[in-house]
Amino acid sequence: MFESARKIRNFPSGFQNKYEISDQELDALLKALFESGEGESLDEVIAQYLVEPSVEVETYLRRYLKTAEEGVVEDRKSLEKNVVSACLALSLVQRKNFPKIARVYSRVRYQENGLRKALLKQTILENTIQTFNDLTISAMSQTQQSLLSSIRRLQKDLILESQALAKYTNVDGLLDMRVREFRQALQMKYPKVYKAIEGGGLISSSGKVYKADQYIDSAARSILLNADRDSVEAVARVKQHSVLDYYLRDNRPVKTGKERKICKDVLVRKIMGYSLVALTRAEADRLGIYTLDEVKERGGLGYNCRHSIRSLPAPVLKEIMAVLKEAI
Ligand SMILES: [Zn+2]
Repeated sequence: MFESARKIRNFPSGFQNKYEISDQELDALLKALFESGEGESLDEVIAQYLVEPSVEVETYLRRYLKTAEEGVVEDRKSLEKNVVSACLALSLVQRKNFPKIARVYSRVRYQENGLRKALLKQTILENTIQTFNDLTISAMSQTQQSLLSSIRRLQKDLILESQALAKYTNVDGLLDMRVREFRQALQMKYPKVYKAIEGGGLISSSGKVYKADQYIDSAARSILLNADRDSVEAVARVKQHSVLDYYLRDNRPVKTGKERKICKDVLVRKIMGYSLVALTRAEADRLGIYTLDEVKERGGLGYNCRHSIRSLPAPVLKEIMAVLKEAI
């Protein structure tokens, strides 16, 4: 009854080559970033080399899950092998492309932010790459595990039901009715699986399910932005500046539709027209503002936050430093 004759479409072996970012593309990105700041060039590179491959893999994974849901698969091992190949191929593409993009991006930001110490540069870059790797590797392994277990569960139910149906004959549409009922029961039993088949959203980390495009786009963007923020902070600490300007970096609408409370709290207080964060506790207390660490602890500058930090114009900083000195 549920015998599936469908052929499994093998995951393409040329996937990695198709999506590997070229040196020319990286040169073009470097040039564009130096000339015009963040803008479209970074968006395009993230879309083409990180998001697109994720969406393609998501499509394949959905197809494999659908095959497992439609009927008893003759060659289940090959189906599972394809799931593993797809997840692995995406992991490899991300681990190759992201460090290259991060290297170009941070090079531009370091120069703009005045970060010169080689050891600091290297450490911030390594953290950036490692954070992205950890996130995507864990997401891909979660996705793979959850898909394989869904496939196995669906297949077991289908095999059991096929055996039960063998003794039915379709008198008065009895068999058709039983099949319909079984299908409905399956949907009730595995709501998440059906949601994944219909709407995608197979990439998950820490058990949460996201659509691949949103997940990878936010992750790449947030993590790159942190390289920028970290270099701003490092320079300020080296130069012993007391405060930094907290500002809206990214004008696009918030994905979650909700602004973080901590960001609002920081932005609403202004000193000499600027929303400030302090680098030390003592200075924060004197000015009645938050420290940078406090902001981060409360979720500011985190995942999907569109705010960032930058150094203040020299005359403003000078004046605030003078006020802080007087207060001692
Ligand atoms: Zn924010």
